[in-house]
Amino acid sequence: MKIHVLKNKNIISGGNLMKYDVGKYNEKSWVITEDKFDKSYLGKCESIMSLGNGYMGIRSATEELYMGEIRNTFIAGTFNKIIENKIDKFEVTELPNVADVVQMEIEINGEVLDLTKGIVKNYSRQLNIKTGELTRVATWISTKGDEVELVFRRFVSLDNLHVIGQKIEIIPKNKNIEISLKSGINGQVTNSGAQHFLEGDKRLYEKKYMQMVQTTTQSQIDFVINTVHSFTINSKVYEPKNLILIERRKIFYQYNLEVKKEEKFVIEKISNIYTSRDIDNEGINIEELKVLSYEALKNENEKGYNLLLDNSKKMWQEKVWNNYDIEIDSEDDYDQLAIRFAHYHLTIMTPAHDNRMNIGAKGLSGEGYKGHTFWDTEIFILPFFTYTDPKVARSLLEYRYKTLPGAHKKAKENGYEGAMFPWESAWFDDGEVTPLWGAADIVTGKSTKIWSGIIEQHITSDVAFACWQYYQVTKDEDFMDQYGYELLMETANFWQSRLEWNEIKEQYYITGVMGPDEYKEHIDNNAFTNYTAHWTIKNAINYYKLLKNEKIEVFDRLNKKLNLDKVYKKWEEKVDKIYLPQPREDLVIPQDDTYLEKEIIDLTKYRNQENVGTLGKDYNVDGINNIQVSKQADIMALFYLLEDLFEKDVKIANWNYYEPKTLHDSSLSLSTHCVLANDLNNNEMAYSLFKKATFIDLGPNMKTSDGGIHAASLGGIWQCVVNGFGGIRMLNGKLRIEPHLPQTWKRLKFPINWHGDRLIIEVTKNKIIIKNETKNNPSIEFESFGVKLTINEEISFSYNN
Ligand code: BGC
Repeated sequence: MKIHVLKNKNIISGGNLMKYDVGKYNEKSWVITEDKFDKSYLGKCESIMSLGNGYMGIRSATEELYMGEIRNTFIAGTFNKIIENKIDKFEVTELPNVADVVQMEIEINGEVLDLTKGIVKNYSRQLNIKTGELTRVATWISTKGDEVELVFRRFVSLDNLHVIGQKIEIIPKNKNIEISLKSGINGQVTNSGAQHFLEGDKRLYEKKYMQMVQTTTQSQIDFVINTVHSFTINSKVYEPKNLILIERRKIFYQYNLEVKKEEKFVIEKISNIYTSRDIDNEGINIEELKVLSYEALKNENEKGYNLLLDNSKKMWQEKVWNNYDIEIDSEDDYDQLAIRFAHYHLTIMTPAHDNRMNIGAKGLSGEGYKGHTFWDTEIFILPFFTYTDPKVARSLLEYRYKTLPGAHKKAKENGYEGAMFPWESAWFDDGEVTPLWGAADIVTGKSTKIWSGIIEQHITSDVAFACWQYYQVTKDEDFMDQYGYELLMETANFWQSRLEWNEIKEQYYITGVMGPDEYKEHIDNNAFTNYTAHWTIKNAINYYKLLKNEKIEVFDRLNKKLNLDKVYKKWEEKVDKIYLPQPREDLVIPQDDTYLEKEIIDLTKYRNQENVGTLGKDYNVDGINNIQVSKQADIMALFYLLEDLFEKDVKIANWNYYEPKTLHDSSLSLSTHCVLANDLNNNEMAYSLFKKATFIDLGPNMKTSDGGIHAASLGGIWQCVVNGFGGIRMLNGKLRIEPHLPQTWKRLKFPINWHGDRLIIEVTKNKIIIKNETKNNPSIEFESFGVKLTINEEISFSYNN
């Protein structure tokens, strides 16, 4: 059986402006470089080179300002809603853009530094993924002919989550120069014009520590931002003449000084941000927070940029690279860089420090999706943490547990029982936060209604699935006892109440929904939704029985709380009557009741598009609804989650039917297709899909990441490598390892967690070696290509790739 090959455009890494092969020796495949400054593409590096640590994220906008840039600093979980009134009634809660500490204005002999003017030589901007340091170098000759060598360095600490370090070097090359530097804290920032803050105190301590206080308008979260500068000329401490400027929402210093030819002027700027939402500072009042953060900054400032950076680098090594690193021995070194890039962003986007928070669809790298959490976490990102860093996975699932009151509220408001999880989720007690109105309808000219918050209900099954997957991989009984079983029961309870009895067919239907394919609204019996709802109830039935027999204390507690004995009867009564769309004669499963009857059009133009979403320029929502076109994996996502329910020939038939109708207009689509192509033994296509998935952020299209990086796609890249090429799968609680290395890969080595042990799996073209590093389990069973095997300390065996 064959599956059709996707159109495979040239595979080139990075395009003209981005370079991924600049790092040499121990920096090989660790460095992302932009080697030409082009003001038209500011968004690309701002996003893909953004810095952070899960507590905060800072877009890598340059120190100097440019038209068209987006300057963002976000602190995870600090959601605010523009106060509701008659006009703003459709605003939803979002992460507010905090005062900017990285901005600086530098004047050289009266001319403002601006890389679009004068002459720029030796330019490069680099993110070192290994260390988390961003560096920008350039030689700038102003329009007046003054030449300066510039080096800008910056990091956000992974060691102290509140700290931001900057270091700037300026060397006059052809004459002595007058430098004027304006730098401080700039609160004159908004979320695309929406102002989330009330302005508080601004003040200076000890003539150099600047402090600004902001409070969010509705959630009333206090933010304290501090910054301090120090200067050297040729390594000697220097105190330039200064002038303090306090303006509306801004506190700045203006420093003026003369620097002689070839002297090195160095500015160090150390800043920190604290908020009253910080888990360590809960209940603290604003005055205490001011003192605490100022004292902390004094401490950090004493250490200075280099030591602070060293501490942060150490953390990157210990926490991230020693734990996560995957080795890919490929003919194209870019592949190694791409998986590290994913690990880098998965680290900086994840608020691992606080289980009241989750991951935004753009991480903390942009305003896109307002910092909200979607199924992206459970289905695309969580597997990475479940298999690699279970503590973090647990924290992200605990967040869902904490959001149960919002899920109950949503169920109740819609006339259902149990937990109906919000499609978009923010602060844990916000409930549903999907905006109601979106882009313009090209036909009516009015805003289009966003239905996903109301009818995209599969999120509830996604939460149940992720919870079960976490448990099966980790065997974390404590999590299950405290949170997991309750989540499984509550989600099943929602679904049993959501089912609709069809008198004629004598089956339960789920009508009026949106499946993962968001190009189809108000559809009946979306296969993904029906199958996963069915799975959720079946799974809850199993655990109901298990708890009743084996964990009576947990059972009694949950029974009292959720009336399990009663709802269990409803599950049993309904579950086998749920309509599960079956393959037709040609083995194609209807994606929903009407998809296969819709008009088929030539999609070539849209399949060849440079930028996603071009279909929306020719068709409005109704138009798209009426043709056989899909935004993203839908049936394919079902095959991926519940893979053993479907035969291979069914999967192939559906691939051949649906993939040509899929535009991959969501960044979530390619990685699922990649893993599936591997399962279907089409290695070449899987590799091409992997590359395309990595190109969503790293590729030659310089506009794709303007709104922020694509969090789910980055989790998907890990899945392509580990679940796809590495062939790791948990099936019914059992481990399966069936690697399929791409032609160009000689070796792949990666860690996974299994039942509390850390396994290191090394795969070459014909051999698999598995070592149990931690040896908590005396033996671990797994299956590989139909053979049952056991790992004690180490096992190696040959296989046919
Ligand atoms: C996709 C959803 C996804 C959301 C956030 C949408 O474009 O269709 O599946 O959850 O983006 O990433």
